[in-house]
Amino acid sequence: MKMNREVALVVFSGGQDSTTCLFWAKKNFKRVVALSFLYGQKHSNEVELARKIALDADVEFHLMDVSFIGTLGQNSLTDTTIKMDQDKPEGGVPNTFVPGRNLFFLSIAAVFAREKGINHIVTGVSQTDFSGYPDCRDAFIKSLNVTLNLAMDEQFVLHTPLMWIDKTETWALADELGVLDLIRNETLTCYNGIQGDGCGECPACKLRREGLQNYLSQK
Ligand code: ZN
Repeated sequence: MKMNREVALVVFSGGQDSTTCLFWAKKNFKRVVALSFLYGQKHSNEVELARKIALDADVEFHLMDVSFIGTLGQNSLTDTTIKMDQDKPEGGVPNTFVPGRNLFFLSIAAVFAREKGINHIVTGVSQTDFSGYPDCRDAFIKSLNVTLNLAMDEQFVLHTPLMWIDKTETWALADELGVLDLIRNETLTCYNGIQGDGCGECPACKLRREGLQNYLSQK
């Protein structure tokens, strides 16, 4: 199959990171397609926000239901009976970690992209992320990129514009792309499902706010 190098598929949740990636992709590719996943997350309104952001940005939007992922492994993002870790536990990952999530998402995204003749795939994972989720690390992404190419005999390129930057620099990138206010007001990063500046208390809100305050104070 002939691959189109002018189109990118963005794995898109409607949060700060993947929305920044969506606009990064719009700057770097002629056409952008967004793929969101329903994976049993408690706050499924995030996919409706994602849909709105994509449509407003003139980006083709697709939603795929992969809810089985949330039921495979115990985690506090999909199981309402588990109290969410506020900090990273000693020597482990917080229970907000959904095991295999990025492995599933990116593998499914690659099959989906292949069907559409797209070989550029963009994901907002960051190794600088405080949580240390193993499937956000650069080594995992590079390894998976090789695996996907071997699995389908294709030339996928996984792009990770946020891999080596922290939240402060992610806000700087949003500003550079001209979407700081859009990302601040319309995205949802909060683990309690509150849009924009969020609940202010959960780990995701704290990280996001600290980054924003840092960026605005040094601007
Ligand atoms: Zn929050």
